[in-house]
Amino acid sequence: QAPVVTVDGPSGSGKGTISQILATTLNYHLLDSGALYRLTALAVIKNKLDINDTSAISKAALDLDVVFEPQADGEQRVLLNGEDVGVQLRLDETSAMASKVAAIPEVREALLIRQKQFRQTPGLVADGRDMGTVVFPDAEHKVFLTASPEIRAERRHKQLIEKGVDANISHLLKSIIERDERDRTRTVAPLVPAEGAFVIDSSDLTIDEVVQQILDFIGF
Ligand code: C5P
Repeated sequence: QAPVVTVDGPSGSGKGTISQILATTLNYHLLDSGALYRLTALAVIKNKLDINDTSAISKAALDLDVVFEPQADGEQRVLLNGEDVGVQLRLDETSAMASKVAAIPEVREALLIRQKQFRQTPGLVADGRDMGTVVFPDAEHKVFLTASPEIRAERRHKQLIEKGVDANISHLLKSIIERDERDRTRTVAPLVPAEGAFVIDSSDLTIDEVVQQILDFIGF
């Protein structure tokens, strides 16, 4: 089986950016598992599925017609039924729906098989919440990336400002703290470091410093 590096952590920890750089550096495939939950959410929204209809939603997760196209800059284009949904995936409405569908055990089960299929030679960097604990428990190298809620709120605020969205930093901080509590204590796939994971707090580190620490850890 191809080697896997798992990178788990909360949103705003920098794991998306870090995972992309790692995949490019190692010349590995990249699994953005959050995108699969967002795509399922998009299917729910587009097909107007009832959030309580767990069997219809897990069927949508199973049937997702999705293509990930790596771009030269390390970013990925995401096509759902042939349509580029990159922007739609990031909308607040999609994010909110994603965290709802992610709490449905049947959806997680449906996406499990699909996620495992990303494990191909020469290797995989898997970015998510439960990559090291549930999806690839036998991964060679597991990383858990964190950052203080204050720093994550600041990063999110900066992203929103860059997009021209006016945002209130104390509201962002409050919602991050609430979501952390929900994620840590939920019964399906709670957000906790996998056993043996290399835990990095990125609060006071640059992206390059975090990448270097991880490359040292995996012995690259
Ligand atoms: O990482 P991202 O913000 O794109 O994740 C979108 C949603 O999917 C989040 O609400 C997160 O809780 C959920 N998710 C998950 N398990 C993963 C990846 C994402 O539950 N492995």
